[in-house]
Amino acid sequence: MLKYLFFICFVISTLKSNSQTIPAVECGTVAKSSWIAKLQAINNAKASALKTSDLVTIPIQIHLIVKANGTTSLTVSQIRSELDSVNYFYNNSNMFFYECLAPEIIYDDSLFNYEYDTEESILLTQHYTNDVINIYFANTASVSGTPVCGYSQFPPSMDYAVVASACATNGSTLAHELGHYFGLFHTHGDISQGELVDGSNCSSDGDLICDTPADPILSSSNVSTSCVYTGTAMDANFMPYAPDVTNIMSYSRKVCRNSFSFEQYYVINSVMLNERSNLYCQFATSVSAFDKKNLRLFPNPGTDVLSVVFSENIDSAKMCLFNTLGECVYENSFSGNNIQINTSKLPMGVYFYSIESNVFKSTGKWVKSE
Ligand SMILES: [Zn+2]
Repeated sequence: MLKYLFFICFVISTLKSNSQTIPAVECGTVAKSSWIAKLQAINNAKASALKTSDLVTIPIQIHLIVKANGTTSLTVSQIRSELDSVNYFYNNSNMFFYECLAPEIIYDDSLFNYEYDTEESILLTQHYTNDVINIYFANTASVSGTPVCGYSQFPPSMDYAVVASACATNGSTLAHELGHYFGLFHTHGDISQGELVDGSNCSSDGDLICDTPADPILSSSNVSTSCVYTGTAMDANFMPYAPDVTNIMSYSRKVCRNSFSFEQYYVINSVMLNERSNLYCQFATSVSAFDKKNLRLFPNPGTDVLSVVFSENIDSAKMCLFNTLGECVYENSFSGNNIQINTSKLPMGVYFYSIESNVFKSTGKWVKSE
């Protein structure tokens, strides 16, 4: 009887979970076999510096596709919140994504539910800004009729990614697609999926990155809602997998994905500097001149008061703190060598600062924490 009851409960819970299951919508980025050799070369060059020591700003433009009558399932402010998550994840690569241009709202009924096969050329010819990452947000996105969360392109390519609204606010899809744009394969491997658990072929199989464990292709059926791997698959040596369910480049549950590995950061940074070096915002003040040696800005991360101290007196300097939208949310002019800024009213998040006089310019990142 107990057994029978258990069976009924099992059937009910299975039915329940099935009825709640959203069809698996994954990533539509197509791997490029020509990218393998390049990625291996980048990995082999790891002996050089991990990343730039200075903050590099990455210009983007948001393109939001809405219906002709303005109907939308996503707002620009939701997209900007997602951009904050992206900046949080890419912080370790010393990269800061910001809006170089105002968002473009595309009023188009046919693009609203976007299909790659027939409509990509419209986006890339009629709604594209050179040398910024164009991020297109559609109501739904599909590749040959199959719904996808989004897609991007491996280098070399035009500068863009597409994200479907259902995945645009999950905290990881945009970071994931940008990961492809900056050269990362899926952790389970796109070209070959035979990476061994013992790591012996990690540089030639799977994602070609050795500090991400072998991944048997994660999904909501082998990662629990509490982000624990529950699969029992074994590799060719009959070793059980122990994948990283938090990796942003995996197919783990979207809410579980919140990390890149050290070597993934290395690849992102290298690709940004060498393969994506065209990125440049020609519409805003350049923030490329760095000279930090005379400046100390602390605490960083900070809370309500930010101190900026110079090694010598600065004359008529202008300071701005920019948010992720590229808006100057704090502005001040000052002379001297020590200023205190009241930052209590600023929301938590990542900012970048620009301090400039006619003989001095310094820019960098500042994080406001709790
Ligand atoms: Zn992907």
